[in-house]
Amino acid sequence: MNKVINKKLSRRSFLKGAALLSSMAAVPVSFVSQQAYAATKASKAAMQYVDHPNGTKNCVSCIQYIPGKTAKADGTCKVVEGAVKPQGYCIAFAPKV
Ligand code: SF4
Repeated sequence: MNKVINKKLSRRSFLKGAALLSSMAAVPVSFVSQQAYAATKASKAAMQYVDHPNGTKNCVSCIQYIPGKTAKADGTCKVVEGAVKPQGYCIAFAPKV
């Protein structure tokens, strides 16, 4: 009986660990400070967000961008807090593949 309980606990612990690791892999840790990682989103200032593109790099072409209701409407970002412009840019930019 103890072996069965230990196996279930071990399996449960493994699954919890796997779920935690997979959720952590989705965050672009290399661009986000430890403080930002602890919070849900980073401030615009911390990510050096600007309302204009940096060359060809802009929010629309970033994997972190969540579009607004229309193509020209402000959207949101998975990393940066608040509304972001489709043509905005920050240092956490990660191109869509
Ligand atoms: S460029 Fe920065 S602000 Fe814009 S969507 Fe990407 S991560 Fe968010």
